[in-house]
Amino acid sequence: MEKTQVKKQSMHATVLNQFNKTAAIMHLNENIRKILCISNNEITVNFPVKMDDGNVEIFTGYRVQHNNALGPYKGGLRYHNTVDVDAARALAMWMTWKTSLAGLPFGGAKGGIEIDPRDYSISELERITRRFTYALGENIGPDHDIPAPDVNTNAQTMAWIADTYMSTIPSSERSQNKHIVTGKPIGIGGLEGRDRATGFGVYISAKLFLDTKGERLDGKTFIVQGFGNVGYWAAYFMIQDGAKFIGVQDAHASLYKEEGINIEALAEHCKPRKGSIEGFPEAVNIDATDFFNINCDIIIPAALGNQITAENAPRITASLILEGANGPIDQEGEEILLENGITIIPDIYCNSGGVIASYFEWLQNKNGELWSRKTVLKKLEKKLTENFKNIHNEVNNSDLDWRSAAYLIAISRIETAYEQRGIFP
Ligand code: NAD
Repeated sequence: MEKTQVKKQSMHATVLNQFNKTAAIMHLNENIRKILCISNNEITVNFPVKMDDGNVEIFTGYRVQHNNALGPYKGGLRYHNTVDVDAARALAMWMTWKTSLAGLPFGGAKGGIEIDPRDYSISELERITRRFTYALGENIGPDHDIPAPDVNTNAQTMAWIADTYMSTIPSSERSQNKHIVTGKPIGIGGLEGRDRATGFGVYISAKLFLDTKGERLDGKTFIVQGFGNVGYWAAYFMIQDGAKFIGVQDAHASLYKEEGINIEALAEHCKPRKGSIEGFPEAVNIDATDFFNINCDIIIPAALGNQITAENAPRITASLILEGANGPIDQEGEEILLENGITIIPDIYCNSGGVIASYFEWLQNKNGELWSRKTVLKKLEKKLTENFKNIHNEVNNSDLDWRSAAYLIAISRIETAYEQRGIFP
């Protein structure tokens, strides 16, 4: 397996830095700054699971609930060997800013289990997920803390969580609690279009940004790190609008093709390989460390945090970076990119299509409605466009970069909530 860059900064340090930078710019009330610097709750659970061979393995799972000033905690569950309390803390904080910026009545949370799902069979993953849900107990709930998919989790994972949660509540309450998770399969109350919502939002952010420059996606070249849910759908919509997909990287390989990669052929290639792009014959293998330095117009990091750092940032030639992933650029990397005049559309806006669609799913379940995919994507585009305009206005009216402008809007809303409700007692 190829190695990607050495990661230097913790994700929590990255998000805290971003927060404190904006807090200073906006002269955030010091008491509110102190509250927002830490998580409300950090839950760690250890639980045993019987493996296929009869042995018992102990797993550790996390759920960090950063803040709920604006509404129930909301955020994904990640299954990856980089999951620990520091990562969950950082990702939960990003969720608080993201839901606030999106104008949703949610707070921020994140969690997961430190495993590589490729090491386990499907039935083991089901038992791990169900036992994790049981261990979390009342820490999650449809109007308290609502999980969703993230790296290496999907609609199936959400279905197991929903079913396990339902088994722990009175049967008369089950039908009203479908909104315990979002990102579910359609058959059990999932939302049409939720699968593509995050990638669609990444594409919309590219389109809206280029509109401000009088430019179009047609003919622009782009590369994507991560060929999972976000990476695939972002690339899909960009290609539909005429952009050329010339590079892709996942945990196993880095591929380049100047004439453009056939996305459907690549997706077919991945299916029998647990999602891996490795060995795709229609593109050239390149060194992982050179990936972000491919000559292109747009980069979409859509994998993990802290991927663009001081090591690779100086050699980036793209003029636009769309943060499909959460926290893909560390502080030093960001300083270099901004210095070099590269625009970064920040994660808390760029990948917010997922949580906005999750909000639609939550509403659909609460109100007993069924929305069509066309309605979902239309409503999503409208919401993303409104939110984009707010950030764009802030960028135009100040000297701020896009991330700081987005943070300013997000933090101001939470500040207002604290100012209006006061602090108990
Ligand atoms: P996924 O599990 O579907 O896909 C992850 C991809 O990243 C895979 O292709 C994997 O091989 C690749 N990857 C993993 N480690 C890598 C490495 N070291 N180098 C290069 N590639 C690597 O996950 P996803 O749901 O697409 O999430 C991707 C990112 O988007 C995460 O940061 C997640 O938090 C963020 N995000 C996801 C959603 C969503 O709705 N799924 C919403 C908002 C943000």
